Amino acid sequence: MYAGPGVKTSPDFPIPDQMKAWVLGNPNELKLTEKPVPVPKKAEVLVRIDAVAICATDLEIIEYGSPALFQGGKPFNKNFTPGHEYMGTVVALGPGVDELPIGQRVTVEIHAGCGQCKRCREGMYTACHNYGLNYGDVDKGHRANGFTTDGGFCEYQVNNINTVIPIPEAMSDEEATLVVTAGTAMYGLTELGGLVAGESVVVSGPGPIGLLGVAVAKAMGAQPVILTGTRDNRLKIGLELGADHVINVRNDKDVVAAVKRLNGGKGVDYVVECSGAPNAVNEAIRMVNRGGKVCLAAFPHEETPVDVAHIVRNNIYLFGIRGEGKSATHRAEAFMSQKRFDATKIHTHTFALDDLPTAIRYAKDRVDDAIKVVVKAKGVAAHRVAAE
Ligand SMILES: [Zn+2]
Ligand SMILES: [Zn+2]
Repeated sequence: MYAGPGVKTSPDFPIPDQMKAWVLGNPNELKLTEKPVPVPKKAEVLVRIDAVAICATDLEIIEYGSPALFQGGKPFNKNFTPGHEYMGTVVALGPGVDELPIGQRVTVEIHAGCGQCKRCREGMYTACHNYGLNYGDVDKGHRANGFTTDGGFCEYQVNNINTVIPIPEAMSDEEATLVVTAGTAMYGLTELGGLVAGESVVVSGPGPIGLLGVAVAKAMGAQPVILTGTRDNRLKIGLELGADHVINVRNDKDVVAAVKRLNGGKGVDYVVECSGAPNAVNEAIRMVNRGGKVCLAAFPHEETPVDVAHIVRNNIYLFGIRGEGKSATHRAEAFMSQKRFDATKIHTHTFALDDLPTAIRYAKDRVDDAIKVVVKAKGVAAHRVAAE
């Protein structure tokens, strides 16, 4: 019977000893297996995973290993379960936990951090100095589920209480998986100073973070919000999420000139760069006005030359962000539960957990214009696509 020292459970939510879990073998090889259901320790809860979204970073990890760092190295052939954008129901409480009840629906942040390094103390737990040091005799207790600890492509996972965010009943499972994506965009805008109302913002790259970046910037009062990208169907969703203008860079080759034209002839105050395109930084630093700020939320695979002289001469600030620090996910959830924007516009497909490889193929190859693909352990028949 499922139990652990000091762990509270409830007869309303019976917990099995074993669960289904996908594990990573060699690169691009996922196997469905069984694992013991993990047991929460101090300051942790057990979450029954009800839905998990596939992120571009999951595809990176499954193919290249990085940026996951599991037991000090690449995550291949280590019985590692990827997946990090999940939500579910709290079904067991670790010793001493009374912050939330069993049965509470929650969504999760990825990074717990070690809680004892300088950056964690500053709220920058996504840049924890003990990142990945959660094993063997160097165990600092760092957790980033799906990166340095087992993730969400399974039925149950443990989470630090600081990484679970209660959600209202009215928020669907699918929508709740998108909170951390909006939280990442929120963290970027937080690091840029957060005072976005009335300021002009460009978001480059209409992937999930970019599209929700538009929504969050607009919810924070930015004006105008301009979205740039190459796919008309995604730019159209950007308009639905609040973009004042969109620029398809395939049709408008000089994107910097196009931005200035739409912003009264001037550069903008902020750019949130979510494309990772090789020339994106050089374009971003030319889109902002003097003293402007650029947040880099995506990265190209190759090192790229950057016009440093332009940055210095124009007093431009560059901010790299990693993930969803400074409790930004809580603020994003507040916007979403108040229906300030409809994040479900980027959710396109749902599959059963057993169909994870198919779901990954849809996300990777953008089959049927897929944007956010969600898998669910229950309530979805295998091999059926439930497109919204
Ligand atoms: Zn992600
Ligand atoms: Zn830390």
